[in-house]
Amino acid sequence: DLGGFFRKKNTHAETIDKKRIVVMANISNIDECDIAVSNLADGIGLVRTEILFINSKDIPDEKQQYAAYSKIVKKMKPEPVFIRTWDAGEDKIFSGFTSKMSINKEGLKGIRFSFTQMDVLTAQISAIVHSALFGQVGIMFPMVNDVSDIFKVKGIINNVVNCMDDKIRAKLNLKIGAVIENRKGIENIDSILEEVDFISIGTNDLLEEMQGASRKHSIENHKLYLHPDFLTVVKYCCMKSHDKGKPVSVCGEMASDIPAAILLIGMGVDGLSMHPAKITSHKELIRKISYHESREILDEALRKLDEREVTEMLNEWLKTSI
Ligand code: PEP
Ligand code: MG
Repeated sequence: DLGGFFRKKNTHAETIDKKRIVVMANISNIDECDIAVSNLADGIGLVRTEILFINSKDIPDEKQQYAAYSKIVKKMKPEPVFIRTWDAGEDKIFSGFTSKMSINKEGLKGIRFSFTQMDVLTAQISAIVHSALFGQVGIMFPMVNDVSDIFKVKGIINNVVNCMDDKIRAKLNLKIGAVIENRKGIENIDSILEEVDFISIGTNDLLEEMQGASRKHSIENHKLYLHPDFLTVVKYCCMKSHDKGKPVSVCGEMASDIPAAILLIGMGVDGLSMHPAKITSHKELIRKISYHESREILDEALRKLDEREVTEMLNEWLKTSI
């Protein structure tokens, strides 16, 4: 588990019935750490590394990456930072080096895209692992399909760690996680969970795949993450994770949306990660609701027909109860 990663402090958020929900920030550049800190984030739940270096013309080398990741970890200390390896699939924004990385890669996404350039992935993993000497770091891998993906990345991590001095190695504070964000990852969730310390659910990609529609359509325009079918899938991931005693958080846009966050809390998520400016309002909400009641709201949502009915029900509840 993530034992000790998250401190109890006077700014943490728990429900009326004392369930702690960690509220973290998604960031794409170093300056956003300051916004996260001023909004009392419990950590950085997602560093989108491919956007962090979006202005680099070339693939940043290990030294450049180490400098950037360490800076983030130091800025956030003592809160943890979860860093995601390159996620430069075809559907993502491209400029600079990510556009070069994507040439002729047959449309591979996430970690399998990185497996086509092992030297690039190894340099990144090494930079992330070394940044975990400055604070608590979670390394996470996008679009994990099955446990073989985890075995491969763990092999790389072990090589890096084995090259360290014993004394230095003892200071490492690193956890390993999978971003679950496609159907294959869900089909193989049991075996993946055996090999990781935590999972983070990428509802943006998961929703795109399930709805067969773009992010813009599914998320911004129609909030399709509130559809009972989608809620059932996310709930399943949370249940699996807890069956194995592993923490689960949600880092997609769904977590940013207050009505949706209530349902995620009802699913028992341990953490929500979102735009840093939204953290304060989410913490306020968490302190006003009970876990018990959020589970009942979730049950009610799961009995509705579609996302419109769920939206109506949640808005009504928010109006009358909060
Ligand atoms: C997601 O897919 O939900 C996610 C958080 O990652 P990204 O939006 O960068 O794909
Ligand atoms: Mg994603």
